[in-house]
Amino acid sequence: AAKADGRGRAQCFSTSLDSEARAQAALLADLRQAVAKGEFVAHFQPRVGAGDGRASSAEALVRWQHPQRGLLYPDAFIEMAESSGLIVPIGQWMLQAACKAMADWRRAGVALQRVSVNVSPVQLVEGDLVGQVREALAANGLAPESLEIEITESLLVDDHEPTFAQLGALRAMGVAVALDDFGTGYSSMAALRKLPIDVMKIDRSFVTDLETDSSALPSVRAIVALAQAAHLHLVAEGVETPAQADMLRELGCHELQGYLYSRPVPFAEFGRLPCVRQAGA
Ligand code: C2E
Ligand code: MG
Ligand code: MG
Ligand code: MG
Repeated sequence: AAKADGRGRAQCFSTSLDSEARAQAALLADLRQAVAKGEFVAHFQPRVGAGDGRASSAEALVRWQHPQRGLLYPDAFIEMAESSGLIVPIGQWMLQAACKAMADWRRAGVALQRVSVNVSPVQLVEGDLVGQVREALAANGLAPESLEIEITESLLVDDHEPTFAQLGALRAMGVAVALDDFGTGYSSMAALRKLPIDVMKIDRSFVTDLETDSSALPSVRAIVALAQAAHLHLVAEGVETPAQADMLRELGCHELQGYLYSRPVPFAEFGRLPCVRQAGA
């Protein structure tokens, strides 16, 4: 009986592995189709000045309008996009979409300093990010100062020279570079010092814990001190309550981003957000 049980379990296990592999293969096939057919959508979330609560920039976030499964969020497909290399064309499309939105806002009188776009390490290693950025800016008549790219600490881990060179070239053009999700990685101070960045974004997990976990406050204080010493512009993400906003403002964050101000919304809704209309007025 025990033997039969064992076999039964093994069979069950291998069947679920097969179905997982099938699901992954189906997702990859769908993702290739999505790139060919242009099924991606950019949503935008405002970043507001800590002092005035007015939108100063917008972060572009990718969504996938899947023909059967509906609107999918990055958690559902970014990993697959990265491992397959499809993040390169998807990322290029996002750069174009973000620059087009920025140009449209400018024409409509929405006073934003810049738009930020998340960039995967794969785009820096495998793609010509500098060329893609130049193209997206030129096609939309935008100055490089209107664009920011957000990278993550995982880029620091292997100290990859060509990627640093690309970041340096972008900054030399006038494009801002932000380090996203700061505090979640394992980067050393030494690595951080070498990284060519202008903006640091404190990870949401610290913000979430500010009111409830007494260890979060000294951590945020340390991050603020680090950013100030390096003359970085400091943004806090995941701000959901007025109390968090007050604490972050007093601690010295320059910009705040989170559901307190707005969730990420489609392009057409962005201009109607209260924090954005104030900026245009
Ligand atoms: P991220 O760049 O750190 O973006 C912030 C994420 O936090 C977004 O999730 C946003 O919707 C969410 N968020 C913002 N404010 C709040 C808040 O107050 N509370 C909570 N609970 N969440 C908040 P989203 O859009 O699902 O994106 C997840 C991640 O996927 C992004 O994290 C980014 O790493 C990646 N991603 C998104 N778009 C792109 C893209 O175009 N290219 C690449 N390579 N990665 C992308
Ligand atoms: Mg980001
Ligand atoms: Mg982040
Ligand atoms: Mg993130």
